[in-house]
Amino acid sequence: MTARRVLLGGLGAVRDALAVAALRGAGLDAERLPPPTDLGLARARVLGNHGQCNPAQYAVGTVLERARAAPEGPAAFARRHAWLVPASCGPCRLAAFPLEWARVLEGAGLAELQVELFDQFAFVPALAAGAARATPTRGLLLALVAGDVLETLGHRLRPFVEDAGALAQVLSHGTAALASAFEERREPRPVLREVAALARALPTRFDRVLPRVLLVGEPWTTLTDGDPSYAIASRLAELGAEVDAPRLVDWLRSIAWQRSGATLKAVEERRAAARAVRSLGAAWRFLARAAGLEEPLEEPARLGALAAPWYPAEVRGGSSFLEVGRALAAAQARSTHLVLSLKPFGCLPSSALSDGVLAPVLARQQDGPTFLALETSGDSHASVDSRLEMALHSAALRAMGELRAACDGRGVRAEAVRAALRAKAPRHLTGPRAFACTAAELVARGACP
Ligand code: SF4
Repeated sequence: MTARRVLLGGLGAVRDALAVAALRGAGLDAERLPPPTDLGLARARVLGNHGQCNPAQYAVGTVLERARAAPEGPAAFARRHAWLVPASCGPCRLAAFPLEWARVLEGAGLAELQVELFDQFAFVPALAAGAARATPTRGLLLALVAGDVLETLGHRLRPFVEDAGALAQVLSHGTAALASAFEERREPRPVLREVAALARALPTRFDRVLPRVLLVGEPWTTLTDGDPSYAIASRLAELGAEVDAPRLVDWLRSIAWQRSGATLKAVEERRAAARAVRSLGAAWRFLARAAGLEEPLEEPARLGALAAPWYPAEVRGGSSFLEVGRALAAAQARSTHLVLSLKPFGCLPSSALSDGVLAPVLARQQDGPTFLALETSGDSHASVDSRLEMALHSAALRAMGELRAACDGRGVRAEAVRAALRAKAPRHLTGPRAFACTAAELVARGACP
């Protein structure tokens, strides 16, 4: 593997760039794969098993696209490269990904490409070893968490900025500057501070009265961007919604937490997993504060307890209990109007299990969030658009109704509230809410006007 160039991708554009930089910082010759596309999916499907869930084919499709762009031809390309890739999108029994990849790569003349699978648990010993040990795995994890921080900053500001293109430019500059920091093994926090200051200096309209959407679903689909996820998080924001999107750090913590309670594991292994949960939380706080994000992560133990009556934490695969736990936590805190579950067509843990739980459980709650499940198949963009816009319209009406109710409750005028919001950026609200709409909640808490 040492003589080969390492290809990596599929974790989302920002995380991909930072992960590749961290690998380079550790001395590897690494390259970022092109983003996954419907065209890559179609190329892989032709060569693969049509019953396989699509993350396997979107992922290998990026390799096919990269190999097609290489001048030396597939066989020579395969001999010079290695593909570093998660073995599946969770310990899911349906994830026969390596077999699928072998078949597709062979069909494309890339049989000699070295496929290096990384296990989602591989990070546990590196984190449990303690903060003093700077290892390549720790550098890679820090880069991935920094990617989560930059993405979260984008999600928080995108619905409010006047010029989404200007924010995209700031975030793109931030990704490049952070990548340089990780490649040169410099401290990333000064870059995060600078990028956050640039982003917050953009003209904003905090008086927008917006619906809030909680995005849940299968991990690979919700963490990647572009075609496989319909770029849903950024599109929701551009359509006028506040979005609470999944983060890689939450998924890794949930996996480590599951492992910390697995009775079949040795005690030392369980303790190491518990330390990994804490270390990942510390990494998030360390970097998020630099970007001015005072958002605590949800504790997996709490989410596991909320999900437990319907989805026991021992059931593995995909997001497992995390999807149900996040949705129930948001419903309990009244922090969302719409729970949107996104997953590949036919995903067993998400479509068959989580959706089967969430649809009836959320429907039973009085004034609870609406539930919408969308499956990705690479060829249903138009129907997804129309279902999304209908759900968002009804959520927007609820947000406006909440603002009216909050203003009536405190005897203030909506125009005065909006003028106050224009003058001052609202802080991030934590804790249970009376209203999911942020403007209405600020009024209810007496913070506005
Ligand atoms: S979690 Fe879903 S998409 Fe991922 S391997 Fe399992 S069935 Fe496929």
